[in-house]
Amino acid sequence: MSVLPEAIETIFQQVKARNPGEDEFHQAVKEVLESLGPVLVKYPEFSDHKIIERICEPERQIIFRVPWQDDRGEVQINRGFRVEFNSALGPYKGGLRFHPSVYLGIIKFLGFEQVFKNALTGMPIGGAKGGADFDPKGRSDAEIMRFCQSFMTELHRHLGEYTDVPAGDIGVGGREIGYLFGQYKRLTNRYESGVLTGKGIGWGGALVRKEATGYGAVYFVREMLRVRNDSLEGKTCVVSGAGNVAIYTIEKLLEMGAKVIACSDSQGVIVHEQGVDLALLKQLKEEERRRIEDYALHHKDARYLPGGNIWDVPCQVAMPSATQNEINGRDARKLVRNGCIAVAEGANMPTTPDGIRVFIEAGIAYGPGKAANAGGVATSALEMQQNASRDSWTFEFTEQKLDDIMTGIHAATWETAEEFGAPGNYVIGANITGFIRVANAMLALGLI
Ligand code: GLU
Repeated sequence: MSVLPEAIETIFQQVKARNPGEDEFHQAVKEVLESLGPVLVKYPEFSDHKIIERICEPERQIIFRVPWQDDRGEVQINRGFRVEFNSALGPYKGGLRFHPSVYLGIIKFLGFEQVFKNALTGMPIGGAKGGADFDPKGRSDAEIMRFCQSFMTELHRHLGEYTDVPAGDIGVGGREIGYLFGQYKRLTNRYESGVLTGKGIGWGGALVRKEATGYGAVYFVREMLRVRNDSLEGKTCVVSGAGNVAIYTIEKLLEMGAKVIACSDSQGVIVHEQGVDLALLKQLKEEERRRIEDYALHHKDARYLPGGNIWDVPCQVAMPSATQNEINGRDARKLVRNGCIAVAEGANMPTTPDGIRVFIEAGIAYGPGKAANAGGVATSALEMQQNASRDSWTFEFTEQKLDDIMTGIHAATWETAEEFGAPGNYVIGANITGFIRVANAMLALGLI
C-alpha cells in the first residue's frame, strides 16, 4: 500500500488530533486516505473544495443517556450513540451495535466505513452508525425490551424515513428491531415502516434481508474467483463468528458446493472436518441463543477449542464474519502459508493494516468489508424501496437483485483498481469508487 502523500498526511494528522483516543476511527480513515493520492491528482477540484477534510468530519454526532431497570429493579445506565456521518447520497443509513466495547471511536469507524460502502451499493443512501455500550449477553427478553424502549425514547427524534434509517449490527437482530420499531411507532403515532430496516416478515420486513450480508459476501467471493478462472466448488472454507452474517455465509457457501470446516464465537472455535452442521448451528444460535461450545455435545467428531484461534485452521477461503481486527499480520501470514487463496470480509474492518498488507503482497483475492459485506445494507435499501411503495417482493426476485448488486460492486471495484494502476487490489478499488461517488455528490450540493 502506498505511503500517504504529504497533503493527505497533513489531513490525517489533523483528524487524529481532532479525535483523540479513537484508534479504530483513525485506522479506518487512514486506510481510505492511503488510497486517495492518485484521485487528487486526477480531480484537483476535490482538494480545492476540501472534500477529504469534510468527509472525515461527521455531519452530526448524538450521544445520550440510556437509563433502564433490570429484572431485579436495579437502575442501569448505558451510553447511546448515533453518528450521522454523511447524507450527500441519501438519508443516513447504517446499523446499531449493542456491545460492551462500544464507544465513540467504534461508532465513528463504522459510520465512516458505511459512507463508502453505501455509495458502492449504488443505492440512494448516506452513511451512519449507532449503538450502545450495552451488553445483551445473559439479559432476559424483558430487559432487552426495556433497554430498546429507553434507547428509542431518545433516538426517535433524530430518525425518519427521509432522515436517518437504522438497522441491526452486532447485538441487534430481528427481536431488537421489533422492540425499537414498536417504541418509535408509539412515540410518533406513525406506522412509518421505512424508518428501520431488518424488520420481521409480516410487519414491513423484506425477504432476504436476514440472509443478505452473508449471501452477498459469498457472491463477492464467487466473482473474485471467477475473474481468476476459479470457483467455490469443492473449496475448504473457514468462517469466523456464529452470528447472522456467519450463518448465512455458511448457508450460501454450502449451496455453492464449498465445504465449511470451522466457525467460532468470542469464547472458542469449533472445528468439524466432516463439515459444519448448519441446521444445528441455526438451532443453537438463532433459536436457543446458546454458545457454540454446545455444538460439540451433538457431534462427537467435532473439536471445541476454548480460546482457540480460528485462523490456525488451514483453508482455501477465509471469511472473517465476527468483528473488527480479528485477523492480525501473524494470522494473515499463517492463512497464506496454509494455502488460502481468497479472503472476503463479512465483518467490518476485521483485518488489521498489517494483515491487509500481507494479503495484498501475497497477491491473493482479498475483498475488504466495504465491498464484500455491502449486500446487507443494499438489501436494507431494497427493504426501504418496498416500504415506500407498500409492496413486498418474492425471495427469488430480491435475491437476484442482491446478486446483481454484488456482481456490480465487484465489477466497479475491479475496474477502478485497474484504472488507478493497481490491478486486482479491491482495497484501492473500493475506496476510490466509493469516495468519488460521495465526493461528486458533495461538490454538486454546494458547501455542506
Ligand atoms: N450493520 C450492517 C452493515 O454493517 C447493515 C446496515 C444496514 O442495513 O443499515 O452494513
